Amino acid sequence: MSSPISDALRYRHGTDLADLDTRGTPGFDGSKSDAEKALPELAPEMADLQEKLFAAGYTGSDRRLLLVLQGMDTSGKGGILRHAVGLLDPGGMRLKSFKKPTKEELSHDFLWRIERELPGPGEIGIFDRSHYEDVLVVKVHQLTDAAEIERRYDAINAFEQRLVDEGTVIVKCMLHISPETQKERLLARLDDPTKQWKFKPEDVDERGHWDAYQAAYATALEWCSTEAAPWHVVPSDRKWYRNWAIGQLLREHLAALDLDWPEPDYDIAEQRARLENEK
Ligand code: AMP
Ligand code: MG
Repeated sequence: MSSPISDALRYRHGTDLADLDTRGTPGFDGSKSDAEKALPELAPEMADLQEKLFAAGYTGSDRRLLLVLQGMDTSGKGGILRHAVGLLDPGGMRLKSFKKPTKEELSHDFLWRIERELPGPGEIGIFDRSHYEDVLVVKVHQLTDAAEIERRYDAINAFEQRLVDEGTVIVKCMLHISPETQKERLLARLDDPTKQWKFKPEDVDERGHWDAYQAAYATALEWCSTEAAPWHVVPSDRKWYRNWAIGQLLREHLAALDLDWPEPDYDIAEQRARLENEK
């Protein structure tokens, strides 16, 4: 078997994000059409793995998976939901897109709203943005004081360690794009009446803080890439690679759970006899 995709994408401490090629295709040496063909071919295996996870949860296992997607605007969190996450059965999935916190959410600790959206046993949770916004946008715009932001890195590590101890596999992905790609994609949104709704004038303001965002990402990755919950950096200038890579990461982590179909807790012969001898 080739080396796991997680190895190729895992964030290594001390890496300068600027040195990682946003157009790269680590772990894949085929063409765009190869990748677009390979992704849906994962579906049967993913369905089997997901159902085993669901069955395990149904019969008392604590195992679950949480995919965390972070990235600059237009990095493709939506595209991933359609293409890679779309391979999963929505029945066993819990998807949450985190927006600007409400007044109520802001009145609690930053992890409060996250806690409420975690996947249950047997489920696959998908976070489109996450608790990392609380050390990204919040840091870039100084939405809270510096000491509170500093505190959050350790709080996140302790939180994620707890989730892992409770049976969650956490797969954290930063979708890494270049500023040029973002510009192209924002312009494309303006040019297309079917995409104009996705554009907000604030997106252009946010773009003005590109370097501050990259610095905030660098700190978050450096501090919060742990043995228990490592970060992955997914080059995302090429949408087909990005979608393929996330599909592979999901497949790999589901397979690593190494789950089997649960053993029945009843006597099969006895139950069969009851049905066959029905009057
Ligand atoms: P979108 O993902 O394009 O729908 O935008 C969601 C917006 O919510 C983005 O501008 C995020 O920066 C913002 N957001 C998400 N989480 C937080 C947070 N914890 N604090 C402040 N803004 C946030
Ligand atoms: Mg947006």
